[in-house]
Amino acid sequence: MNYISTRDNHSPISAAEAIKLGMVPEGGLFVPSHIPTLKEEDIFAKKNNSYQDLAVWILNLFLKDFKSKTIKEIVNQAYCKNNFPSKQITPLVRLNKYTYLLILWKGPTAAFKDLALQLLPYLLKQAVLKTALNKEIVILVATSGDTGKAALEGFKDVEGIRIIVFFPDQGVSKIQKDQMLTTGGQNTSVVAIQGNFDDCQSAVKELFADQDFNKLLKINGYQFSSANSINWGRLLPQIVYYFAAYLKLLRNNNIKKGENFNIAVPTGNFGNILAAFYSYKMGLPVNKLICASNENNVLTDFIKTGRYDIKRDFKKTISPSMDILISSNLERFLFEITGHDSTKIKRWYHQLADKKSFTVDQKTLTKIQNLFVGYYAKEKEVKKTIKNTYHYYDYLIDPHTGVGLSSLNKYRNNSGDLNITVLASTANPYKFSKAVLHSIKKDLNEKNQYELIDRLNELTKMKVHRGLADLETKKIQHKKKINLKDIKEEIKDILSL
Ligand SMILES: *Cc1c(COP(=O)(O)O)cnc(C)c1O
Repeated sequence: MNYISTRDNHSPISAAEAIKLGMVPEGGLFVPSHIPTLKEEDIFAKKNNSYQDLAVWILNLFLKDFKSKTIKEIVNQAYCKNNFPSKQITPLVRLNKYTYLLILWKGPTAAFKDLALQLLPYLLKQAVLKTALNKEIVILVATSGDTGKAALEGFKDVEGIRIIVFFPDQGVSKIQKDQMLTTGGQNTSVVAIQGNFDDCQSAVKELFADQDFNKLLKINGYQFSSANSINWGRLLPQIVYYFAAYLKLLRNNNIKKGENFNIAVPTGNFGNILAAFYSYKMGLPVNKLICASNENNVLTDFIKTGRYDIKRDFKKTISPSMDILISSNLERFLFEITGHDSTKIKRWYHQLADKKSFTVDQKTLTKIQNLFVGYYAKEKEVKKTIKNTYHYYDYLIDPHTGVGLSSLNKYRNNSGDLNITVLASTANPYKFSKAVLHSIKKDLNEKNQYELIDRLNELTKMKVHRGLADLETKKIQHKKKINLKDIKEEIKDILSL
């Protein structure tokens, strides 16, 4: 299977090449030339397979240029007991008759990004071997908090790879920041940026497309790649857990053969929900995909009206990993839903760059609305949802999952849709202790984040995630803070160019 550009500005390439490049150098994103479809019986037949088996199965469908044996090795290394102590890898927790939480935060850094970023380094290493690249890969990451740490853990001390992470200094939680800044390893750099996530992401994307800068890197024996969800290698592993969730529902007789279900996803860059969309295209019986946003609700408006408009204030919320206005992966989705119409994609994305908005045609909008609904949750509603979930179900959720559940509840109230819904739970609550504790208890004296973790633990008795338990005692390794405009100079400095 080949990979093509959403903007029809690159020749078709292999999966290995697409993963190595990260994004299309001329702008645009790599997507599979077609999405493989599976028969119902073939999906049912996997009912009793392990998560690892499912991952091998799905990856094989998309990575035709990788050896099956290699894929198996990669999967077993990534999803080993040390990285994911839970045998199910992504357990399914029943909240009530209609609602199941898909727990995606059992990995080393306590967010769903680990599912992809524990695997991506192996994929990239293989891709480099396959394409006989004699250069050191420089992974540039823009993060709204969780990708940064997950990528650092995945790529730390991986031979032949350097990783540089940029994060918005004021735009991540204290714990997210400490997680990143305390990362060791010989090949890691972490840099705080004055600006928001969109600024970081746009600056990094520009660097990918900067021909002169890329030449300079090449001369010095380097090549850029990406660990953001613009890289196909980030999205692919995320398809697996939607299959795992569906098959678990079948196995437990929570759902009947042929019965449809919904998937709800707290959304930022549109990566996780895009993986859910691909799982639907491949054959999962999905009724609706529920796209949940926080107060940065560009996507809610888009799904309702067909107009994508980023001329609005950027809001800082208690779900910082979703504080995004420009959702990169929407481009991949629009490419699929328009039947690979690159002309439209180019037009819309030029309009977005020039005028900060675009509007899709009615036919496209109808297609989108047949499958997607968009809802958003206000800060107050998120806190209330965290509190209610804790009190009614004795279960603690983080603010991102809270956005998801609050949005799902609104959708249900409006539509009366009682199909079983799998809601992606994207982070461990301790990662956002302050917001979570404030939601379930009002009178708080603790100010220090680590006191808050202890207090939350005392109160709820939920075990502190291992990735956060000893964070306070770790040494800060990275101290750089720069202005957005100095990003290029910073990279030159780090790589001694
Ligand atoms: C990254 C992230 C999201 C948003 O996921 P996208 O794939 O960017 O839409 C939601 N919740 C958490 C906790 C995250 O880390």
